[in-house]
Parts: sequence; structure tokens; C-alpha cells
Amino acid sequence: MAEDLAEIAQARGIQYFLISFVDLFGVLRAKLAPAAAIAGMQKNGAGFAGFATHLDQTPAHPDTLAIPDPASLIQLPWKPEVGWLAADLYCDGQPVPDAPRQVLQRQIAKARALGLQMKTGVECEFFLLNRDGSAVADGADDYPKPCYDQMALMRRYDLIKEICDAMLQLGWQPYQNDHEDANGQFEMNWEYDDVLRTADRHVFFKYMVRTLAEKHGMRATFMPKPFNGLTGNGCHMHVSLWRGEENAFADPAGELGMSTLAYQFLGGVIHSAADLCAIFNPTVNSFKRINAPVTTSGATWSPNTITYTGNNRTHMVRIPDAGRFEFRLMDGATNPYLAPAALLLAGLDGIANRRDPGKRLDINMYTDGHTLKDVRRLPLNLLDALRLFDASEIVRAGFGNEVVDSYTKLRLAEWNAFMSHATAWERHHTLDC
Ligand code: ADP
Ligand code: MG
Ligand code: MG
Ligand code: MG
Ligand code: MG
Repeated sequence: MAEDLAEIAQARGIQYFLISFVDLFGVLRAKLAPAAAIAGMQKNGAGFAGFATHLDQTPAHPDTLAIPDPASLIQLPWKPEVGWLAADLYCDGQPVPDAPRQVLQRQIAKARALGLQMKTGVECEFFLLNRDGSAVADGADDYPKPCYDQMALMRRYDLIKEICDAMLQLGWQPYQNDHEDANGQFEMNWEYDDVLRTADRHVFFKYMVRTLAEKHGMRATFMPKPFNGLTGNGCHMHVSLWRGEENAFADPAGELGMSTLAYQFLGGVIHSAADLCAIFNPTVNSFKRINAPVTTSGATWSPNTITYTGNNRTHMVRIPDAGRFEFRLMDGATNPYLAPAALLLAGLDGIANRRDPGKRLDINMYTDGHTLKDVRRLPLNLLDALRLFDASEIVRAGFGNEVVDSYTKLRLAEWNAFMSHATAWERHHTLDC
């Protein structure tokens, strides 16, 4: 049987399996199981104490069992004796309600019932820092407008090549690598695919970049805004909906080559964007990237308002090409499963209710945004975002109350922990009050 992991281990020389899952905060958790034990793990799952991760469980909960999905198997290109597996979570014989990969699978099933498949491509920006994470690793990378800097890119050739070679070997079809808009910041692009496959690859990409950066004596971070004044880490998502082999978002007769269905999907995302900001921008730090003052490069490249446009990078949604949207709100901390799940939820609501995205804006939002009268703005901090998320009937209907309650509870606890901690900024601005 092609899906029998013990047989696959023998055939491919896999000695160990990483049985992994991503928790609500996007943290990757795993157990390392020898191939000799994989048959049992494939059937019964690997056991975890859910409370020890960011899942809404207590220490009294029975084991959470992680059942690996053989379709997700990736042999580590830098250590082929190890096979990585994404797993789905069960507790007491039931699916764990707030397990992110299953949250996404439930949205996928809703789309499938309408004959639709979502395909996504992600742009996971990251910084390469020194080992302790305090500064950009490359001290010479200090030009104020460093995007596409060839010297800074090529100083990192050994690492970038190793990651890109790995993606080539894995069949992801990578096609370009560049230095991004902040000092020490890079982006590596591979081809879009089915949403679940891209989400699994997104998780693996972050793991791979961190691991190989460590091997090269650095620390990689996807943190939304690691440095004040520098452009932050975005995680743009490109999205299309397909009916079989046909891109249902494409229509040569539609505005900018987009179909009525596409504009309804967009209408849904525009309608719920503020409510879903807590998923797309999930950390305290996320709100230093969006709504941010101009960076040293001249632009933040991140949105402030709930607006869409054509091929223009100053709005929340860009239509770069016929047949797809680029959602630019997400940052590097967004959960690789919950973010596309949230987009799909909002898009399906848009389709069901034929939501109108309003008029496209072709202005430069950074310079001329202030001229707009009643433009909707994004929440300014995590607390405001969580309150919107918690109160949204559309999100509750789409995700289910358990998911919304659990996510809100755990993230609110994080917000409260942040608020109980006085910062250096406060001392500086308040000592002499
Ligand atoms: P940009 O920097 O201009 O935003 P990138 O080239 O960095 O764009 O990333 C574009 C992403 O969009 C890639 O992952 C690409 O495969 C993906 N993409 C292209 N066409 C589609 C489509 N029809 N549906 C979903 N994703 C797409
Ligand atoms: Mg134990
Ligand atoms: Mg890009
Ligand atoms: Mg980029
Ligand atoms: Mg982009």
C-alpha cells in the first residue's frame, strides 16, 4: 500500500519520522519516532499533552493523539534519513476542535461541496540575524534602500542556494530568490498549489529556513516587525478558486480579468477583514507592521486600510494579474493553516451572500489615503482585533464557537501578559511625568 509509512520507510531509507503539528500560535511541535515504531503511530497516533502547547486544553486532558497524514511526507533534503509528517489531532476519539490543520480542512470541505478548490501561493519573508537574534547578521547590509541588493544577496548565496536546491529537489518549483526591502531581509518564491499542500509546505519552509540558517551560523526570523524603522515580514497570500482544471476567478470579460465569483469572494474578505485581523496579524508585534510609520526605505509595503486595487502595492488587496488576488495583510506570524482557512471562510461567505467589494481604488494609498472620507481602517492593536474577532457572527458561523472561543482566550492571555510588562519606551516617556 502506497500509504503504509513502514513500507515507505524501507523503500526510501527513512530511519526516523518527525510527527508534527502546528498549534494555535503557529508553533511547530513534534515527536521523533523510529521507523520501527511508525506502523503503530500511523494507526494510533503519537501522544502529546495538549496543555503543554498552545491548544485550549488543561493539564487534566487525556492525551492528544497526532495521526500523521502520509500525503504530507517530506524527506529532509539535508538529512534524508528523517521523514517529516504533518499530523491531525484527536483527543478522546474526537478531532481536537482547535487543531489548525483540521480547521483548514473543514473550510476546504465546504468549498469542495460547492465544487470549488482553493489554490494558494505564499511569500514568507524572513530576516537573517546573528545567532542571538539581536542584529542583522550581515553588518555590511546597511544601505537605507536595500531591496534587490545584489551584493547583500550574494553574501548569503551558500544558504539561499541550499534552501532553493532543497525546494527544487522536493518538486516545489521555486523560481526566484531576492533580498527584500529591509536590511537582512529575504524572500524565496515557489509555485502555488492546492491550499492544504501549500499550507504544509509553508510550515515546512519556516522549519527549513530556521534549521539551515542555524547550520550557517545565523538565526532566521519571520517575526512581523523585528526592527523599528525597517520594513517588516509580510506573508502575502495569492489566492484563486478552481472548478476542476478551470480557474473560476478568471474571466477575460470581467474587470481586470476577474470573474463575478472572484469579486464576490473579495467582497466577503473585504467585509470580514477587520474581524479576521486577529488571525492574519496574530501577535502584539504584528500591529507595529501594519498601520506603521514610513520606514527608512521609503515605504512599509503593508496596508493601513481595507481597500483593493489593481497592480499597486499600497492597498490591502492587489490584483497583480488576471485570475488571482494577492492578500497583503498577513505577516510572518500568521498561522499557515488558520490564515488560508480565514480567507476561505470569508470568501465563501462573500459568495453565499453575493457581497460587493465596492470600488477599486487606484490611488497611492501611502501619499493620498488621507484624501478618502469614509475608508475603513484596520484595527490598531491586538486587543481591538481580538474583540472584533470574538464578536463576529460570520467568523463564529464559519469557524464554530469552540475555535473562536479557544483562540480568543489564548491570545487574550498573551495580550494580558504583554500589558502586565512595563517597557523601556514607557520608562523613557514617563519617568519625568
Ligand atoms: P509578488 O512579489 O509580485 O507579490 P511573488 O512572485 O513573490 O509575487 O509571489 C507570487 C505567488 O503567487 C507565487 O507563489 C505564485 O505561484 C502565486 N500565484 C500565481 N498565480 C496564482 C494563482 N492563479 N493562484 C494562486 N497563487 C498564484
Ligand atoms: Mg512522557
Ligand atoms: Mg514577492
Ligand atoms: Mg516581499
Ligand atoms: Mg507580494
